[in-house]
Amino acid sequence: MNKFFNSIVLKGVVIHLLLFGIFEIMNSTYYLSDTKALLLFFIFYIVTLSLLIWYLSNLAQTANKISNQVDNFLNNNYENLQKSTENDELSTAYNKLITLGHEIEDRQEHLENQRSQLESILTYLVDGVITTDRHGHINLANHAALNLLDQSNEGILGKELIEILKISDKYSFHDLLQKEPELTLNTVNCEGANVILRVNFMLFRSESGFISGIIAVLHDTTEQEKTERDRRLFVSNVSHELRTPLTSVKAYLEALNDGALADPDLAASFVDVSLNETDRMIRMIGELLELSRMDQDKVKLHTEIINYVDFINYILDRFDKIIEKNYSNFKIKRQIPRQEIWLEIDTDKLSQVIDNIINNAFKYSPNGGTITVTVWCNNNKAFTSIADQGIGIPKPALSKVFDRFYRVDNSSRNSQIGGTGLGLSIAHDIMKLHKGDIQVTSDGKNGSTFTLSFPYSDEINRENNDWEDFAE
Ligand code: ADP
Repeated sequence: MNKFFNSIVLKGVVIHLLLFGIFEIMNSTYYLSDTKALLLFFIFYIVTLSLLIWYLSNLAQTANKISNQVDNFLNNNYENLQKSTENDELSTAYNKLITLGHEIEDRQEHLENQRSQLESILTYLVDGVITTDRHGHINLANHAALNLLDQSNEGILGKELIEILKISDKYSFHDLLQKEPELTLNTVNCEGANVILRVNFMLFRSESGFISGIIAVLHDTTEQEKTERDRRLFVSNVSHELRTPLTSVKAYLEALNDGALADPDLAASFVDVSLNETDRMIRMIGELLELSRMDQDKVKLHTEIINYVDFINYILDRFDKIIEKNYSNFKIKRQIPRQEIWLEIDTDKLSQVIDNIINNAFKYSPNGGTITVTVWCNNNKAFTSIADQGIGIPKPALSKVFDRFYRVDNSSRNSQIGGTGLGLSIAHDIMKLHKGDIQVTSDGKNGSTFTLSFPYSDEINRENNDWEDFAE
């Protein structure tokens, strides 16, 4: 009802009738002459026309406003969304358009938020994501996918997915759609490293149910594969390393059982060997347990700030005594500054590292020689190098000596020495716990040099030290 009263047509009709009524009243009241009647009719006509023009221009103005607003919406401009205060049909239509504008703006904002959310997820996703159209042509690839496949965005867009994944000899795009297989691919990433990718495919469909493309998710499993390989190797190494001494202990026990027990000298030597082998197994199991605790982050350092110079001299004094007793053809040369060097370390753990390196120096220097221990600092690191004159480590083995169970030339040179191949990997882990490092250099024949480095803070060491001033 309200609408009817506000309608332009009604207003027009009412005004027109009013004016016509006035004209009729004037005509019948004043018996107007023809000329006057004509004049009045003319005035009535002009007034009606003016009112009509006024209304029409009002209508045209509102229609223009509607048309401009539609143009604004088409240009994504939602700035002027003021409703009209008028109440006629066109203004109501205009106001509805404004409401629609608000609605579209809200939805667009929502869509934009979702789009940028999706974009950030895709950008920061560690897994690579590639999508294609329904013909298998790539239309989107995230940052991770480009890096994993060593491709650029321009180089990949529009290309066939099976070509980019280099699987066109085994699969057609149709196969991917039908079987959605899980593939393992070997590729080279943007840093030139070999990577193992697990690729999963998923179809995506439009609302009508038609397949509109495929999504390929690329997962870098290089680390996982390596861990799995290392785990298998580790289990096989442990079994192998324990089987060897166990077999020999069993052989000696059998020999004793078969009559060697009757020969006291032979029996004593068999028991001796068995004990040595058992000791080795116990040592190995102890070391394995220690490594396993470090792997599980169960080992906590009990650090204290100590004068490292005193600490290292104390250890070397101990070794001097051992040399005096057992290794007369060895000598330890100290190149250690007199100045104090304060470091925050776990002394027990670090003694274990240095003991292992010096013991190795004895083990792998059959002709004895000088073991030179040097300590020095630079701005933020303290170093300790331990150099021997032993058999050295061949170049290809240098990077492996810190691996678990690794022993250079397992068969010959280590067989009599009887190490476990675990000492240096424990040393390496302990240095990592100290946020330090351990490195080795060797020319493969004339000795080896192991260098430890630790974080060193000037705050603790304020004095100006003269590092040239060595105490021999
Ligand atoms: P192991 O118990 O066998 O000594 P380590 O982990 O301490 O185990 O050392 C790993 C391997 O590194 C040793 O088996 C040996 O082949 C090599 N190695 C370690 N230290 C030296 C050294 N000073 N000179 C030569 N080879 C060494």
